[in-house]
This record gives sequence, C-alpha cells and structure tokens, in this order.
Amino acid sequence: MGFSEIFGQRQVISLVGRVIETGRLPHALLFTGPKGVGRSLTAVTVAKALNCLAGIKGDCCDRCPACHKIAKGIHPDVHLLAPEGATLKIDQIRTLTQEAALRPYEGRRKVFILDEAETMTEQAQNALLKTLEEPPGATLLILIAPEASALLPPIASRCSQIRFAPLPESTIAARLQEQGCDEEEAHLLASLAAGSLGRAQELRQSALQEIWDLIDQAIALSPGKTLPVLELTERVVRRKETLSLFLEALLAWCRDLMVSKVTRHEARLVYRRHGAALKRQSERLTLAQLLAMYHTVKQTLDGLGRYANPRLSLEIMFLKLRDLQTA
Ligand SMILES: [Zn+2]
Repeated sequence: MGFSEIFGQRQVISLVGRVIETGRLPHALLFTGPKGVGRSLTAVTVAKALNCLAGIKGDCCDRCPACHKIAKGIHPDVHLLAPEGATLKIDQIRTLTQEAALRPYEGRRKVFILDEAETMTEQAQNALLKTLEEPPGATLLILIAPEASALLPPIASRCSQIRFAPLPESTIAARLQEQGCDEEEAHLLASLAAGSLGRAQELRQSALQEIWDLIDQAIALSPGKTLPVLELTERVVRRKETLSLFLEALLAWCRDLMVSKVTRHEARLVYRRHGAALKRQSERLTLAQLLAMYHTVKQTLDGLGRYANPRLSLEIMFLKLRDLQTA
C-alpha cells in the first residue's frame, strides 16, 4: 500500500512524502492522534518508501521484494515494536538500541516503529533517550502515541511530531458504505467512532442488534416499576465488552430525540431510519426532559471508567430515565 491509499489523511501524507522525497527526514518522528486513523499504516509505508527497490521518489511500489518483506514483517532492517503485555519493556528497548547501532543489512535505512510508545515504562524511555540523542546515521525511529504529553518531555522533544487528525464522521460513514454497510448503520457507527475508522470497523463486528434491543427497552421503561430496571441493568452489565458502546449508542439516541424535537431535518439524525419513532417519542416529552435524559446518560458514560462496579450507576441511570419520562 503506497501513501495514496492511506485513507483520509491527505495533508499528513503529502507532508511525509515531501520530506522523504527531499531527503530531509529527521531521525525521529512522533505520530500522534487517536487510534485507527492511519498512524501505524503510515509508519509502515514510510519504512517501505525508504527501502523500496523501485526508485519511486517519496513513495513505494508495494510490489518489490523489499516492500513485500516489510508488509510481512520480515525485513531485517524494519522492526515493529509493540507492548509485551501491558507495556513496552526496557529489554525491548535495549535490543533496539543494540540493533540501531548496526548498519542496515540489505536496505537503505533501518526503521524502528514503536507502536503504543506511551506504554514504555520510565526505565524503557530513559534507555531510549541515548539513541534519540545520538542517533546512528541510517536509523529512523517512529514513535506512535495518542499525544506528545503521554511521553516523558525529553523523549517527545527529540522527535518531530506529526499530528494525525480524527477523521470526519461523514468520511468514515462514506468509507463504511463503500465496504457494504447500509446508510443508517454507517452513520451510527461513524457517530460512535470518535473519528477513528478502526474503531468504527471494530464496532461493526460487535453486537449492534442486541444494543438496539437494549435501547428500545431503556426508552420504554414502565412508570413506577422497578423490576424491569433491574432486569435491564442485568442484561447490560452481563455484556461487559459492549457496555460503553451501549451507553454511547443510547446517548446518540437521546441526542436524536432532542434534534427530532426541534427540527424536521431527518438528515441530521444519527438514527435516520427511526425518524418516525424518534418523532413520536420526542413529542411526548419536553425539551427540558430530553435534555435531562441526555445529561443522565452522559454522566454515566463519563463516570464509567471510574467505577469498579458499574451496576449501581447503571441502575441509577435507568431509574432516572424512567422517572424523567414519566415526570
Ligand atoms: Zn517497493
């Protein structure tokens, strides 16, 4: 895959291509931005462009033996380091340092890609510092992290930072539709994906249908009854891996209820195909009620990471939603 096939990062890609073409590549790059927006793919493509045998200026052919080896992760001069367990460890960095001091075996540049560089232990970062301070000539380091502040300042300050922006929702939705998603699903996934095509694709694999059912129940809790609240909580809690997805989807539904209340433009809805149902529900409720529902879900979602046991906060959320709808 050459630079032109990297999706939705035209500015970054043309910058990187130009720097490679003019031979002004710094010895250490830091790719920042959310997961799933093309940081790793770009790093691998840089490694290809630097070692490709086809002689394309500032890009790679993706067909020569060097490009093939890099794609398969077996090129002796291109190394991808990922966390072993939860962290990138000092031993991994020590191996890198030794390897970086050697000349390339068969390529033109040695490239080390450190994925999730923010997981480096402090020791590991200190071990890397020397290589960053006195980089061996033919070595390029590419660190990948969500933001520069996730690394120790001496590490971040020795890298040239390249920022990868989150992708616009419309771009993600269009891509998902190209990949066979129907329009509504594509828009829903895109709105939940926070600018990351990778996350949208992950979400697509997960149990969207079940989440729809749960939302239906949450929005139709009977006044005064507590048993359905407990049952619903139980169902949501049981699927731990989709808990935050469910809350985000529910939040998008509450947002749509407000949109539906104040405008007739269905194009602004995430759940376009459910425009009629949204209209019906939003008509029963005041804007103040809808706003309170939205905040209730938002608070629970924001608090999710802080609670060891989400059951209680979910129960409270469902009870509030129930009471808000009948107030
Ligand atoms: Zn090539």
